[in-house]
Amino acid sequence: MKVTQAYRFALDPSPAQQRALQSHAGAARFAWNWGLARCQERYRTEGKWYSGTELHRLWNLEKKFDPALAWWGENSKCVYQEAFRDLDRALGNFIKSRKGERKGRRLGFPRFKKRGKCRDSFRFSTGTIRCAGPTVTLPRLGTIATYESTRKLNCRLEAGTARILSATVTRTAQRWFVSFTAEVERAVPQRHARPGSAIGIDLGVKTLLVGVDDRGNVVTIPGPRPLGTALRKLRDASRAHARKRPGSANRRKSAARLARIHAKVANVRVDALHKATSMLAARYQTVVAEDLNVAGMSRNRLLARAVSDQGFGQVRRMLRYKTAWNGGVLVIADRFYASSKTCSACGTVKTKLPLSERTYSCQTCGLVIDRDVNAARNLLKLAASGAESLSACGAAVRPGAAGHASVRQEPGTPYGV
Ligand SMILES: [Zn+2]
Repeated sequence: MKVTQAYRFALDPSPAQQRALQSHAGAARFAWNWGLARCQERYRTEGKWYSGTELHRLWNLEKKFDPALAWWGENSKCVYQEAFRDLDRALGNFIKSRKGERKGRRLGFPRFKKRGKCRDSFRFSTGTIRCAGPTVTLPRLGTIATYESTRKLNCRLEAGTARILSATVTRTAQRWFVSFTAEVERAVPQRHARPGSAIGIDLGVKTLLVGVDDRGNVVTIPGPRPLGTALRKLRDASRAHARKRPGSANRRKSAARLARIHAKVANVRVDALHKATSMLAARYQTVVAEDLNVAGMSRNRLLARAVSDQGFGQVRRMLRYKTAWNGGVLVIADRFYASSKTCSACGTVKTKLPLSERTYSCQTCGLVIDRDVNAARNLLKLAASGAESLSACGAAVRPGAAGHASVRQEPGTPYGV
């Protein structure tokens, strides 16, 4: 099975390489802004804009004749091309979002990128892209040291079971990273190691997730709640930051500190999510989770912190490819399936259940149970029918009473890209 996987390494560049990285990031930003300005101009006069390919062609003409663009050759030409592609995609997404063809929050028209206000990032998809030991080699930039060995990816490259599609370089909190997107040939078992095993999971607000498996065991994964525990540190840092005079050296320093804390928190969270989802995918053939409208929930201020903290979307994405890699399947319950409002014992559906009510108590049969466990038990019930409908047609189905949609086993979705 061919899957797309991301491999991310922290870079340890020399001062000269740091300048080159900075220059490439600047070039990508310039190309984006240059392309966006061209598109806006054309849109005003002709009511349409340029495609990524057209922009690239325009750029190739202009860069040779405009002396103000004479510096273009200092950076890999690939970087400009990829920036135009990104712009093309952003414009396309904007149109889709406006027409209602795109899930998630509404996207605005792409904006100009300001130096220091946007994420430094650029990408290569052609040229010499390699990794060996604790180094990576990129077009124009040459060989850059990494903090950890690139062995994981390199072994696959040497064995011929992986092919690098692109390399994206980004800067987070003053540290540079490279993320390789690779097409990887993975041996996927025909059958799951524990056939018939299933778990229903509810992505909790208080815990990372609560599950109930086919044997009736309650599996609770507390999750580090990194934002919760580091919140005080973060709050102190942002208060200190707010007191610094704009434009001062101290403000710049406190901004860097703030960014470092944020980056650390994000790393801890992604780590915890990977561990939890790997465990679930290895242990259970069928994992049933809820289809949460994450974009919609994030708009709800009460839920926003907990939701973004735990990364519901991330959990689902990881579960989707990891279950597939283990010969299992992820079943997503229909958004309208009232897993938390339904009694898992008698099936009575409550009309209302405020989020503050952490215990489910049924007026009909007298069941008193933790809210998340009740939801997980309901989701588990969808497991059996989910596996069947998947093997039958492989597409999303919604059998009346159970009310769920199963999800096609998608090849691995890259993360971090
Ligand atoms: Zn009941």
